[in-house]
Parts: sequence; structure tokens; C-alpha cells
Amino acid sequence: MTAKLMDIRKIGPDVCHFVFQVQDAPTFAYVPGQFVSFTAEIGGSPITRAYSMVSPPSGRFFELCLNRVAEGKFSPFLFDRKPGDEIEMTGPWGSFIFRQPLQDSILVATGTGVAPFRAMLQDRLPRDTAHQFSLIFGVRYEQGLLYREDFEELARRHPHFRFWPTLSRPGSDWKGRRGHVQEHLFEAIGDRRDVNVFICGLKAMVDDVRPRLKAEGFDRKQIIYEKYD
Ligand SMILES: Cc1cc2nc3c(=O)[nH]c(=O)nc-3n(C[C@H](O)[C@H](O)[C@H](O)COP(=O)(O)OP(=O)(O)OC[C@H]3O[C@@H](n4cnc5c(N)ncnc54)[C@H](O)[C@@H]3O)c2cc1C
Repeated sequence: MTAKLMDIRKIGPDVCHFVFQVQDAPTFAYVPGQFVSFTAEIGGSPITRAYSMVSPPSGRFFELCLNRVAEGKFSPFLFDRKPGDEIEMTGPWGSFIFRQPLQDSILVATGTGVAPFRAMLQDRLPRDTAHQFSLIFGVRYEQGLLYREDFEELARRHPHFRFWPTLSRPGSDWKGRRGHVQEHLFEAIGDRRDVNVFICGLKAMVDDVRPRLKAEGFDRKQIIYEKYD
């Protein structure tokens, strides 16, 4: 398949929101939480990278949220694309999706790891008032709180959703939570052991959170994770 870049806009320091349109299919169906695989010839060799959809399905369109990795190969290439450019892709892929039967869920993200959660929550919250959802979103600085207004709006509209942003390097005027996501996880969980915990971000964070949950009695089936590296 081929995806055409329709729009690109900056949403944070070195982070952009991309809108693509699938070219050779009448629609692009996926389950929120899934990702696409892009391939391009860079420096003489084909490079493939995965990117999670950041919004629910919408006809032939899909949206991504990308971090420019300064020393990276593929992300700088994508940041240099212009509307109208086309990219080879496959997908959708992945099983980082809400499981059936659905359980109350704690979602833990750092950085662009929040992308699949935006798609999952935008899709799920309006049609599911029977379950509780919490998003613990960790970044360094306040400007890095990607889609902050969207999550705050979701929390206003849906009392069964809590949004807990936390900053590891807050400015002096930040009134919210401080520190890493790990420091707030068990406050969100409380005494519950019947919730699913979804974790998305870089390996270091995911590999730190999983054993903490296991040590607190969580079964591995309740810990669903996606590592970006
Ligand atoms: C299932 C899956 C879904 C993904 N979804 C997204 C997504 O929605 N948005 C996104 O930005 N990335 C996502 N990634 C990461 C993405 O595939 C690339 O690894 C990333 O864009 C870096 O590629 P690169 O070629 O520029 O860097 P490379 O040349 O591959 O350099 C890799 C370096 O970049 C670091 N790195 C990888 N991803 C990130 C990141 N997101 N932020 C900071 N450092 C990173 C690695 O730790 C490593 O040090 C996803 C990865 C997987 C496996």
C-alpha cells in the first residue's frame, strides 16, 4: 500500500502530528492501538519503522504522532516530507488493543507512547460508560504534554476517565504531578488487582514498570505493553 502525506503540524518540541491518506484502498480499517509499518530507501538501503495510529479509523485517513530522533534514520526522513509525498506502507499490525472482556484499565505512557492511547480513548470513552480508565502521562517539560487539551476535554466530558499528566522536570509554576509515571502508578491502581494495565513508550520505562506490577500480584495477562525501541 501507499500512504500520501496530507498534512503535517508541529505539536511539541521536535514532535509533529501527521495526516496520511491510503491511496490504493477504499478505506483503511484498524483497531485503535494498532500501528502501520513504513518503508523507505534511506542512504541506499530500505529502512522500515512502526508508527501507532493516534486517532480512531476515519475512512482512508490515518494520523500519526512522531518524535524526531536527532540521530535517527527514519524519523528525520519523515519530518522532511512535504504534503503530496507518498510512502510505502503495510498494516495495520499489532495486538496492543483493549482486550475482551473489557476491564477497567490504567494506561501508562511516556512521550510519543501516548499515541495509541489517544486513539483508544477517543474511540472507547464515548460509547463505554461501564468501565473506568486512567491515563498517567509522563514527559519532562510541560510543552511536551502532547494532546493535553484533547485529554483534558475527554476528562471533562467523561467522568469515568482520569487524566494524570506528570512532569519529571517541571517549571516552578507547574501545579500538577511531578516525577516519573512509576511514582503515580500505584496511587491510580489503589487496592484493585482486577484492572488491566497498558504501558507504552521506550524500553527503559516499560521494563521498569512491568516487574513492579508483577511484584504487586498482577498476572502477566493483565500487563499489556508496546515498546518503541
Ligand atoms: C509498535 C511500534 C510503534 C511505534 N510507534 C511510534 C509512534 O507512534 N511515534 C514515534 O515517534 N515512534 C514510534 N515508534 C518508534 C519508531 O518505530 C522508530 O523507532 C523511531 O521513529 C526512531 O526511528 P529512527 O529510524 O528515526 O531512529 P533509529 O535510527 O532507529 O534510532 C533508534 C534510537 O531512537 C530511539 N527511539 C525510538 N523511538 C523513539 C521515540 N519515539 N522517541 C525517542 N527516541 C526513540 C531508540 O531508543 C534508539 O536509541 C514505534 C515503534 C514500535 C515498535
